[in-house]
Amino acid sequence: MGILDGKVVLITGAASGIGRATALEAHREGARLLLSDVDADGGQALCTEIGADGGEAIFSTCDVTSEEAVESLVAQAVRELGALDCAFNCAGILGTVGLTTDTDYEAWRRILDVDLNGVFLCTKHELRVMAAHGSGSILNMASAAGLIGWPGASGYVAAKHGVVGLTRSAALEFAAQGVRVNAICPSYTKTPMVDDLFENLLGGDPAYVDAALANHPIGRFAEASEIAAACVWLLSDKSSYVTGTAMSVDGGYTTP
Ligand code: NAD
Repeated sequence: MGILDGKVVLITGAASGIGRATALEAHREGARLLLSDVDADGGQALCTEIGADGGEAIFSTCDVTSEEAVESLVAQAVRELGALDCAFNCAGILGTVGLTTDTDYEAWRRILDVDLNGVFLCTKHELRVMAAHGSGSILNMASAAGLIGWPGASGYVAAKHGVVGLTRSAALEFAAQGVRVNAICPSYTKTPMVDDLFENLLGGDPAYVDAALANHPIGRFAEASEIAAACVWLLSDKSSYVTGTAMSVDGGYTTP
């Protein structure tokens, strides 16, 4: 008996990294999955992998910056899987790095559009379905960058702080209707996004890796599976008294 046995779980950004790891962990815990991403090949491959392991997962391409696409994705869960019990809004980008004074306005808007507006659109349409049903659990992907400043990434940090604020407000609005809304705040996690940060955006200088590691009391970066374990717990009824939280899973990175 898994902690998500029979639950219909929607995950955006499921083709890679933390979203992918969470889909696999949710499958192991008995979830029935609607997986979504802009990367159709990666998403379909994951569904095939879960299906071969005896699970149930369907894939639907969705760019979370389109309200029409998000509304249709949420409707698909109800139409094809019969319900929407849990949703993990994980799709995101890192965008560019650089000082605020050097940040191009278009690049700023793009980060806000995917990392904050995309989470807003998903939360909005998931809440409508869950509130009408009288239960549900929504998990929004924030970051340690949603809790503290991070020089050189003001757009990303602003978007992730926005996700925390959105999550807290939505949680207070819908707690009495049986819907929980939480955020998760990982720090550096070994995914293609972090590989890209160190190898390309920061030019492959090992000093950046050492500096980042020095800020983690636990002495290493997270595996995606370690973040996924916390995500599945927050999505499940095991966390039934938890709402409006922005939970750090960061090896002590933001511990005061
Ligand atoms: P990743 O690049 O491995 O995965 C991100 C996924 O999101 C990709 O599959 C990508 O195709 C998808 N995506 C991007 N834009 C999209 C869009 N507009 N619509 C739908 N899907 C889209 O990265 P990851 O590290 O797994 O990051 C996942 C989330 O976790 C992001 O929101 C990121 O900000 C957050 N996060 C990551 C870390 C980390 O260290 N890796 C730490 C804290 C928070």
